[in-house]
Amino acid sequence: MFKTIHRVECSPALAACQQLIRTFSLWLCNPATTPASLTQPGLQPPVLPSAIEADWLWTFLQRVDAGRQLLDLARELAAMPNTEKAALTSWVQSVSDLAAQFKPAPAAWPIDCPLAIGANWSAFRTVIEAFYEKGFRSGLPYLPNGTPVAAGGVTYADFVRAFRSAHSRSNAPHARQVCILCSGPLGDTPHVDHWVTKSAFPLLSVCQDNLTVICSTCNEAPNKGDKPVHSAGNFSNWFHPYLRPAHGTLQLVYDAHAVAVRCSSVEVADHPKAANLNKLLDLDARWTRELKAEYEKHQEILRRREAWRVSNAQVGHTLTELNAYIQQWADDLLPSEPYHEVHATLAQAVLEPSRMEAWLEELAIVQ
Ligand SMILES: [Zn+2]
Repeated sequence: MFKTIHRVECSPALAACQQLIRTFSLWLCNPATTPASLTQPGLQPPVLPSAIEADWLWTFLQRVDAGRQLLDLARELAAMPNTEKAALTSWVQSVSDLAAQFKPAPAAWPIDCPLAIGANWSAFRTVIEAFYEKGFRSGLPYLPNGTPVAAGGVTYADFVRAFRSAHSRSNAPHARQVCILCSGPLGDTPHVDHWVTKSAFPLLSVCQDNLTVICSTCNEAPNKGDKPVHSAGNFSNWFHPYLRPAHGTLQLVYDAHAVAVRCSSVEVADHPKAANLNKLLDLDARWTRELKAEYEKHQEILRRREAWRVSNAQVGHTLTELNAYIQQWADDLLPSEPYHEVHATLAQAVLEPSRMEAWLEELAIVQ
């Protein structure tokens, strides 16, 4: 979160799908909608905005998830009692307006399951998550700019490719890629993350404000996993990748005594947000591990060089030489490399005169 996180070229397609999911959900909750309403002609405009979206949805509903056809599950939802329909309508309207949570005086965010009957919630969750698990994988009915299209629409793979390309820190074709949350390596198996967990908020399964591509370490338990990114429905002390970015305020603070690094913020008002981000992703511990590893790597390099000199009957390192080594290392740090911020914090700390002396004492190789 040190750098700006961008919506990508195909984000409008995700926004259009989010709107489709919202429209379909609210239509299912309309008291006038019955199981018999769920036919291919029944989905046509004005129920959905275009015939392309209606036909895509009809085909999508023929798919099977865990032995149940999505169409059957949708018909169960259309058959819900009106009290359940009213509760789900209100929930859909609140959750659809995620962006309002990052504006002044937001309405209450629903944290409890909106439906009294467990089977209804299970059916809703299965149908809506399938938009992500199945629909997005094979292709949404939209071009990247959100225009409906009958074939060749944006896929999960398209989104991952666009996101990775938009957030690459280097133009070099084989450059290491960096995770937008932790600044570590993105790795060979990055994950698409739902910032607000889709298990509790399936309505945000395909939402341009809710999807990013992050490293597997950030995404998996015991780090982010299914943890909430709000405090009991209150988002005020939380960053958000797009809606309340940490860029410009997030910073690393070096603790010389502990040889550790801490996730903090430039702005005092953002300290609780940095603390929550740290708790979510265990950043202090992960960044400190990297800091120590880098520190030890350079000590090892210097010890090996010293040993080589001794074995070749050469004069050992001078303080000036070691100083020059550290300065060169600091100057050579590339902003495009993983953990650049951690390495730069370490280099800056070691170059402090008092810290430099302590570091060289630890090495115990100076002539
Ligand atoms: Zn990460």
